[in-house]
Amino acid sequence: MILPRVWRLTAILVVCGMAWGAARGGEALVVSRGAALPSSLRYALLNDVARRLEARVVSDTGAGTFSIEREGRRVVVVPGVGAALVGSRVVVLSREVVARYGRVYVPRSVVGEIERYLRGREPEPAPEKPTPVPSVRRGVGADRLVRRVCIDPGHGGKDPGAVSRWGLREKDVVLSLSRRLASELRSRGFEVVMTRTSDVFIELNDRPAIAARRGADVFVSIHANACSRPSVDGVEIFHCDGRYDPVAMAAAARSAGRGPDAEDVGGPVGLNAGGSQAVLEMLFEEYHRESRLLSSSLERSFVRSGRRVHSTRTAGYRVLRLAEMPAVLVEVGFLTNRADERRLRTSSFQQQTVRAIASGMEAFRDAVVRTHGYSR
Ligand SMILES: [Zn+2]
Repeated sequence: MILPRVWRLTAILVVCGMAWGAARGGEALVVSRGAALPSSLRYALLNDVARRLEARVVSDTGAGTFSIEREGRRVVVVPGVGAALVGSRVVVLSREVVARYGRVYVPRSVVGEIERYLRGREPEPAPEKPTPVPSVRRGVGADRLVRRVCIDPGHGGKDPGAVSRWGLREKDVVLSLSRRLASELRSRGFEVVMTRTSDVFIELNDRPAIAARRGADVFVSIHANACSRPSVDGVEIFHCDGRYDPVAMAAAARSAGRGPDAEDVGGPVGLNAGGSQAVLEMLFEEYHRESRLLSSSLERSFVRSGRRVHSTRTAGYRVLRLAEMPAVLVEVGFLTNRADERRLRTSSFQQQTVRAIASGMEAFRDAVVRTHGYSR
């Protein structure tokens, strides 16, 4: 029997629930960092908060999370992260949660809220338009899994990006390439949405949000490179470094989650994944795994088309971290390299570039169908 992607994600949620249950018996274990204790004016010991509530701190060493659970309510924090999961809400903190000498400290400013919530004095807020997982609305069927591509031409408007010594502006060349890429992908059966189709400025947070709102299955940001050494040339491909960033997600959710068509496709994950940190981490792990697959497909395709690939690696770029889907950033050539710069101005080179990207996208689509989108 063939299971569509929707069912597979449902299975992930069930596994997450089981993993959470298994982690509940764990003991708090924090690696000491050999630094000064945080100020007791600013920080409270998580264990003290738990003791006042007659509860206990539970650690999940695998996920690196610490939680207090009381009567079915749960607060989760992660050392080094400036956010807490209070029930199903991501609360952005004034400062990071800190771990020192085996103990976890939370900013005092959030203690009151944690206690009120865990004592049950604050009603559980109804999630806005709850959707189990954002991918649920994506199409099912072999040719619909990687169906809609969001192309994100970098920079624009007041932000020119890199500018070559000879006057070529990154924002212009990537827009031209992105338009060509859109028609190339459409001719190969993909649907295409774009974050911009003209010379306008778009905030970084909004770019992945546009992709999510418009139901894209995959996100490709197009840029042109610059380097202090003029001899460096070739293509660079980046995918996300795999860190899930609740603070950035919360900020993006605030700025983008209430768009007019947000309910059509689900807003940013932070609003609608049921609020479970474990679920979010699992979803992002899946997106990041597929992002790696996409970047290696693109690399192979560029090499086949005779292009030099300078590197394929991870990066913490915000457009990649915030994308709720497989996402890559392609630097199509170096504006600081005379040969790359000259070629990037020509339509033949631009066309060769977009054909390589489109072929890599096709290979990715086939690989997703073959290995990930379906199970037997
Ligand atoms: Zn750029």
